[in-house]
Amino acid sequence: MSFISLNIAEPILKSLSEEGYTHPTPIQTQAIPVALKGTDILGCAQTGTGKTAAFAIPILQNLAARTNGSQNRKIRSLIVTPTRELAIQIDESFQNYGRHTALNSTVIFGGVNQKSQVKKLQRSTDILTATPGRLLDLMNQGYISLKDIEIFVLDEADRMLDMGFIHDVKKIIAALPRKRQTLFFSATMPTDIVKLANSILTNPVSVHVTPESPTVDAIRQALYYVDKGNKKNLLIDLLKDEAIKSALVFTRTKHGANKVVKLLKGVNIGAEAIHGNKSQAARQLALGNFKEQLTRVLVATDIAARGIDVDELQYVINYEIPNIPETYVHRIGRTGRAGANGTALSFCDAQEKPYLHDIEKLIGKKIPVIDGHDYPLIDHNPPEPVKQQQRPPRPGRSNNSAASKPADKKRRWGRRR
Ligand code: AMP
Repeated sequence: MSFISLNIAEPILKSLSEEGYTHPTPIQTQAIPVALKGTDILGCAQTGTGKTAAFAIPILQNLAARTNGSQNRKIRSLIVTPTRELAIQIDESFQNYGRHTALNSTVIFGGVNQKSQVKKLQRSTDILTATPGRLLDLMNQGYISLKDIEIFVLDEADRMLDMGFIHDVKKIIAALPRKRQTLFFSATMPTDIVKLANSILTNPVSVHVTPESPTVDAIRQALYYVDKGNKKNLLIDLLKDEAIKSALVFTRTKHGANKVVKLLKGVNIGAEAIHGNKSQAARQLALGNFKEQLTRVLVATDIAARGIDVDELQYVINYEIPNIPETYVHRIGRTGRAGANGTALSFCDAQEKPYLHDIEKLIGKKIPVIDGHDYPLIDHNPPEPVKQQQRPPRPGRSNNSAASKPADKKRRWGRRR
């Protein structure tokens, strides 16, 4: 299958070739012909499958074919996505794939002053990518009207729900014309998502990429059972391996991300954090440094990392196991993108075992366990954190009682690679 056989127009073919894309990915092969016909899509696609191009290419092609050449054009396609990073990347894709068309695209997101975004909107925009909050805000201020939208994309719908954007999304949908094409994408399809999809799609065609097992096959997954207090030692130990050129480390909290950065910097491992407390400029800078391999380790919270797209990211490390199983799929999907190989390592302490159980249920397989590492799980039944707070501290006992007792030295799986 080639892009030509998908009937893609010459100006877009030219930019795809400039991007170095030779063949469409499976989601593109399935979705592009359907979307080109103007049909609604219910897409179940993992991260890293080429989903963005699967909707961007047909949008560009259809809008270009229907452009009247007027200077004062209206917004005719809207893409709503949960995070700023993802919004920026989607807009970059539109700019890249559409560079030989006459279409204009713009992106808006929160956390920065609206002035420059409003200014850009006042020039003619055909395609708008937005996060829900800023979009509603600018709609309420009268800067954006959705009445001319012909193609609407709801991207990462499951994440949108997890992040509590459902009410915003419903308000946006209510402002769209009834007659429109809707392309709906989600990595997972829990009941709430199916309900939402049914309420906004008309006779959709389903496109599914490996729905049975939502983790990308190219990603090698491995699990380390380790005491909470020893995770830092395990991380430093793994990162001693210089073959790990880039690693994206996930923590559950912003505070946790900052702590890991401090820890790594303390042993001369280049690291930066990316999370919601950082300004947009700081996040973009950290991401840029990581992409260019100026920083070896990027430590991120889930929300901040949602849209991160780093070519050839080797390692994802789950320093903490996510409590929402779908989040695991999103996290590890940062590596192994577009068929490249990647490795996802997860650190699981005793209290995180129930989360691990849910993840393995979702992905339908056991994650291979690495035995014989230096910091095996010793404390199988640590006290609940709440109870710990109620008790007075025991004299002479550090929080990391197991931290300084490495087990027998054996070569690690991660090192041999
Ligand atoms: P996405 O799932 O849309 O985030 O895309 C994941 C990555 O795959 C991005 O870096 C894209 O640039 C890349 N990509 C998308 N489609 C193709 C293709 N047909 N061939 C090669 N790379 C692609």
